[in-house]
Amino acid sequence: MKAAVLRGTGDAFTVEDLRLRALGPRDVHVRVAASGVCHSDLSIQDGTIPHPLPAVLGHEGAGVVIGTGADVTTVEPGDHVVLAWVAPCRACFFCLRDHPELCEHGLDHAFASPYATASDGTAFLAAFGTATFGEETIVPERACVKIDPEFPFELAALVGCGVVTGVGAVCNSAHVEPGASVAVIGCGGVGLAAVQGARLAGAAPIIAVDRVASKLVLARRCGATDVVDASGTDPVAAVRELTAGRGADHVFEVVGRSDTIEAAFEMTRRAGTCTVVGAGSFSDMVKFGAMQLMVGAKTLRGCVYGSTDPARDFPEIVRLQQAGRLDLDALVTRRIALEELNDAFRAMQAGEVARSIIVY
Ligand SMILES: [Zn+2]
Ligand SMILES: [Zn+2]
Repeated sequence: MKAAVLRGTGDAFTVEDLRLRALGPRDVHVRVAASGVCHSDLSIQDGTIPHPLPAVLGHEGAGVVIGTGADVTTVEPGDHVVLAWVAPCRACFFCLRDHPELCEHGLDHAFASPYATASDGTAFLAAFGTATFGEETIVPERACVKIDPEFPFELAALVGCGVVTGVGAVCNSAHVEPGASVAVIGCGGVGLAAVQGARLAGAAPIIAVDRVASKLVLARRCGATDVVDASGTDPVAAVRELTAGRGADHVFEVVGRSDTIEAAFEMTRRAGTCTVVGAGSFSDMVKFGAMQLMVGAKTLRGCVYGSTDPARDFPEIVRLQQAGRLDLDALVTRRIALEELNDAFRAMQAGEVARSIIVY
């Protein structure tokens, strides 16, 4: 099967023929039908997120089950599935405390052993345990969530990372209430999903902040009532002005940089909540004044994978889209072939796209 492989940090992807390892008893063999290209893949490629290589990246995918190990009981060949990049064990400390997204074993399979080899003998890890930048993959049963077979694959793929991360940050982590004021910094795929989550929650106003005008147009389509172009305006002052000088009840930072996190914290009202969704670098340090932290009485929290429980949330996102309550089509900027992956990364880095989707 063909896969776009990453052999070393900073390398371009090359499409190569790989041979999958044998299926274990709790493994599922999936023919990938579509995969989103997410910013976290870029962070692995450029070394921001440390990851052992060579590997096949891609963690936002959907496809069809084509084989199952002897002990698999929840899916069977022919099922349409969305893949979760954390495969919750359902038994660890965090799983038992309603935090399956923090499962202590959720990524064990990704690092345990290579999932495929090339003809020259090079062995490849499946990054995030999903490796959706390939025509086929092997994932643990726990990473598979069965969905309605009528649902289009390219939208289903987005459900697996960007959509649950954005919608989940608003609905699962922050529990935004009707009428709350919300600001979202960063309007890529995840940020636009957060804007849609705020619309779903009945927030008003919903203020979208970005430096790219086309993304702000998309943000309006996704439910933003106000937009702030941070390339020409001070976003903190603009959000304060739109919230009676107080700042927003909830602010979501979906960039993952210290300067935007500091701005997000500043535009959060006193006793409001600032949720950091963006995946930044371990070495990028965020600074607050000690007094500012106490006097503001704000909550600053991180949010992993939209605090999602894949088995609960993936089918729910599908139903909300089918009911017209979400607009996942708005997130798809372009459809590409696997061979166009390097250009999709360039476009993502340039901020040109919400999401590129590989359609196999
Ligand atoms: Zn992602
Ligand atoms: Zn667990």
